Amino acid sequence: MATLRDVLYETVREGELYEKLDRNRVRCFACGHCCPIPDGQPGVCKVRYNRGGTLYVPWGYVGGVQCDPIEKKPFFHASPGALAYSFGMLGCDLHCSYCQNWVTSQALRDPAAVAPPLGVTPKALAREAVRHGAKVVVSTYNEPLITSEWAVAIFKEARAAGLKSAFVSNGNGTPQVLEYLRPWVDLYKVDLKSFDDRHYRQLGGRLQPILETIRRLYEMEFWVEIVTLVIPGFNDSDEELERLAEFLVSVSADIPWHVTAFHKDYKMTDPDNTRPEDLLRAADIGKKAGLRFVYTGNLPGLVEDLENTYCPGCNTLLIERYGYRILGYHLTKDGSCPKCGRAIPGRWAPEGFRHQITDRPYLPRRERLVRLGIV
Ligand code: SF4
Repeated sequence: MATLRDVLYETVREGELYEKLDRNRVRCFACGHCCPIPDGQPGVCKVRYNRGGTLYVPWGYVGGVQCDPIEKKPFFHASPGALAYSFGMLGCDLHCSYCQNWVTSQALRDPAAVAPPLGVTPKALAREAVRHGAKVVVSTYNEPLITSEWAVAIFKEARAAGLKSAFVSNGNGTPQVLEYLRPWVDLYKVDLKSFDDRHYRQLGGRLQPILETIRRLYEMEFWVEIVTLVIPGFNDSDEELERLAEFLVSVSADIPWHVTAFHKDYKMTDPDNTRPEDLLRAADIGKKAGLRFVYTGNLPGLVEDLENTYCPGCNTLLIERYGYRILGYHLTKDGSCPKCGRAIPGRWAPEGFRHQITDRPYLPRRERLVRLGIV
């Protein structure tokens, strides 16, 4: 019987993010590992592989599709209330023991992770996104950097249909992949998991490429928001959170920082779930460091007013939220404070806020996906 690896190795095409080396080896630039790959071998992610001196990369399928509120990604300063049509492939370049998307991200590493690939074309996905009323198409669920070529193919169709695009990523990038993405990606969320290189090595990565990517993303004018899942005993010391927040301020005090609550998942079941007071402490550290927009996530209603956006100039309430739900929206059409006129950084929809299309995730209708050949 064909294994998942056999199936995935058939749905490929030649990659665009690599160079040829001697002895039929190649070097991949899609993520910060920059793997030199011998003939016949895959890279660390297991989904990009060298055959005969050519790098083959995933193509023509999704591991999952879902309609999400954009606030779930989370983007709080980009088209509030929009529907984010979200897709993912399979595989990841890290192996976080607490991954909340492990069924797709660890599909080629962990036999318990079973997510059958579903064949689809970029045009069909973009068409479905429009039909659902989405404003943004998002590559998420697995690490999108390692499947950048496929994401760009979809984003080209999405752009032609008038949609924006986004990456929800671990940020383990390279200058080459960011140049490749820049024309086609509008919004970029980085999951900054820790500020300790030893912790990153436990997850299968390094801290430095991620910090360099965040700085570069900002300089290249992607819209960037950062998330840190606060895990008790892993990354939540005052000292580590302070260094992390100070780094973000050194890039820009205007970058929104979301500190979100961990719950036991996958193989990480020892730490306690994050308590509201842990998030409030992390948020306080971010504000004291000078970040202007700090949000708490995953514990709606338990974190004082830290789900809302306030004007950093006059403290006027601009966007009121409960979880993913927008309760009040007071920004002007051009994204300014209605009281003091201060411009609030973000990618606000030019038509202004009309309503929220959904405040909870849902699956696109199955029969429609079958007709499109998605399942
Ligand atoms: S995407 Fe990253 S892990 Fe995968 S082959 Fe390329 S450099 Fe290696």
